[in-house]
Amino acid sequence: MKQGIHPEYNRVKVTCACGNEFETGSVKENLRVEICSECHPFYTGRQKFADAGGRVDRFKKKYNLK
Ligand SMILES: [Zn+2]
Repeated sequence: MKQGIHPEYNRVKVTCACGNEFETGSVKENLRVEICSECHPFYTGRQKFADAGGRVDRFKKKYNLK
């Protein structure tokens, strides 16, 4: 992301797979992420997935979790 080039650098809402929503700066209108600092077990020490379905298994495989 090259800041300073794009004039439309706005605060946008990011929606995470865990349901958490937060704002960040981006030239995009909206963002979707699967892991955020609120639900990442490496940050929180636990998982907060309420109803993420297959995303949980995919996440576990990604990080080699049992
Ligand atoms: Zn999250």
